[in-house]
Amino acid sequence: MAQPYSALSTEEIKGKLEKFYQLYKIYQGEDLKLDMSRGKPCTQQLDLSMGMYKVLEDTRDFFSEDGFDCRNYGILDGVPEAKRLFGELMGVPEEQLFIGGNSSLNLMYDALAKFMLLGNARSERPWCREEKVKFICPVPGYDRHFGICEELGIEMINVDMLPDGPDMDAVEALVAQDASIKGMWSVPMYSNPEGTTYSAETVRRLAAMKPAAPDFVLMWDNAYMVHHLEKERRDSLPNILDVCAEYGSEDMPLVFTSTSKISLPGSGLAIMAGSRRTMAYMKKRILAQTIGPDKINQLRHVRFFKDVDGIMAHMEKHAAIIRPKFELVDTMLHRHLDGREIGRWSRPYGGYFVSFFTLDGCAKRVEQLCGDCGVKLTAVGATYPYGKDPHDANIRIAPTYPSLEELQKAMEIFCLAVKIASLEQAAR
Ligand code: PLP
Repeated sequence: MAQPYSALSTEEIKGKLEKFYQLYKIYQGEDLKLDMSRGKPCTQQLDLSMGMYKVLEDTRDFFSEDGFDCRNYGILDGVPEAKRLFGELMGVPEEQLFIGGNSSLNLMYDALAKFMLLGNARSERPWCREEKVKFICPVPGYDRHFGICEELGIEMINVDMLPDGPDMDAVEALVAQDASIKGMWSVPMYSNPEGTTYSAETVRRLAAMKPAAPDFVLMWDNAYMVHHLEKERRDSLPNILDVCAEYGSEDMPLVFTSTSKISLPGSGLAIMAGSRRTMAYMKKRILAQTIGPDKINQLRHVRFFKDVDGIMAHMEKHAAIIRPKFELVDTMLHRHLDGREIGRWSRPYGGYFVSFFTLDGCAKRVEQLCGDCGVKLTAVGATYPYGKDPHDANIRIAPTYPSLEELQKAMEIFCLAVKIASLEQAAR
């Protein structure tokens, strides 16, 4: 068993550092180009969905089940068979869904831009007329959520993620006393980057909140709702709209998901859902914006997946490809770091990321060491609002895109970088 680095003598630290610098130089000489920065499916995963393009080509039937010619203008919120499929998947009545475009992030940006410009169904005035608009951001979190807030001038407040979701004591206290807090981000299942799924108790406490802002919005980004990695261990999440209905807060959540990591990112379907009142309001606004989405893509998806079982079977194929990559990351981290007390990491049962914490003050150095060796990581700080990790400790590892061989090499270098950064800090 390796010793904690904090127990090493100055001489031992020096000796180890010399050895590790030598090894690092060898890796540097290999002229590597490895990317663990973004949560992208690998080519093998993308290939799983190519049959989608054959289903329509073969039949050349472009009519939805109610006889609408999907090649033409029309149908604002989705063809009936697509609404039925995703309504069933998400546990939401069809009339409370909007299927539009190819990116849920785009829907989220668009929703918040609308609220800034016009307010939401419960607003007294547009948010841009308020002196200040603030959002609660569970951290570490998804960089692009934070990017939307930054772009729209929404001030972000960090709340720590705990093993069962955001720190609800902090969230409840904040929303109850500050009416300028208009919303909160949530990735409630297999969160980005931790892989945490909110507990039933956390979901209940969120639904039971009594925000001071009457138009508070819970941005419920359920991007990884069917992205399990294991067969035996699957997280589950209560239906936020149902739980909110029990507390009379059904107008609070705005639910999002997409098929980006089910079918093809950028060529998938994005879906938004909410209460009847919320969705009537949103659809009215969207009507001014578009005549309708790409319905042919909706047909393609429904005819390829057929039903919810079809989606679940497809997700098992994804899991079979990426599970070994997550296992490899975990194995390598244990092999190289156990006992040294220089890092901790998540072991998710789904989603796309592993969240790693170095000792405070070491993450940027790890990023630099990896970068100088040809291993690209998600920018350190990106998992926090304004790109500022107060502890300089969190690193998001995205293992899905590289091949197993590339990942093994990248993780060897990553672990070496963690050791070097920790020893350098100990030597100071
Ligand atoms: N939401 C989360 C939590 C994500 O991690 C991602 C992509 O990484 C997205 C949304 C992007 O979704 P889309 O491709 O539907 O815009």
